[in-house]
Amino acid sequence: MSDSTVRIGLVLPDVMGTYGDGGNALILRQRLRMRGYDAEIVEITLNDPVPESLDAYTLGGAEDSAQRLATRHLTKYPGLQKAAERGAPVLAICAAIQVLGNWYETSSGERVDGVSMLDVTTSPQATRSIGEVITKPHLDGLTLPLTGFENHRGGTTLGPDARGLARVNHGVGNGVGDGQEGVVQGSVIGTYMHGPALARNPELADLILKRALGVDELPTLDLPEVEQLRRERLRV
Ligand code: GLN
Repeated sequence: MSDSTVRIGLVLPDVMGTYGDGGNALILRQRLRMRGYDAEIVEITLNDPVPESLDAYTLGGAEDSAQRLATRHLTKYPGLQKAAERGAPVLAICAAIQVLGNWYETSSGERVDGVSMLDVTTSPQATRSIGEVITKPHLDGLTLPLTGFENHRGGTTLGPDARGLARVNHGVGNGVGDGQEGVVQGSVIGTYMHGPALARNPELADLILKRALGVDELPTLDLPEVEQLRRERLRV
């Protein structure tokens, strides 16, 4: 790995990574390599402290007990919090939204303090939300609908410092009646969309990469299979 290598942190894949969410790191790496960048994935497990110097970070979903281990680890080693403070992009999927929030309640009703990078709280909904989601993003730089697959019991309430990533057109999203899906706060983007989200939403992948590289534009990638997947998932 040279000094110019772009380093993508795959955070706690040993406990957080349902539905192939680790694929988000692979997609970031691949889209960089196709454009001629050296790029590597740095896996950070429960055996490692969390480095604060990486260029971007991804975290996946998890079930309650795994989520709790992740919360404890990220609190003990606050590298992710320091990286986000300097503006490094962080992508948080599903349970990761809950872990990075102020607190979440497990499905058995126990409240667990989160990492407080996101001004959100999460409590179980009456029913589990499972299925395809289609949304219209609010974020500047995103023009296309975002799609994914959701499977969560938690419903997430946004506090005043957080805003939604997108408005739900189909599916449940955050699930607290405000029509919002996901969360944006500073350099952290959270979504309930598995899929992996970045395979289905290349525009979101490139937005994260532009932030990681500190550039306004990236060369377009002409990838018919990716475009086909993106379009296919709009027809649910
Ligand atoms: N355990 C969390 C919930 O059900 C997150 C699930 C997930 O990441 N798929 O809300």
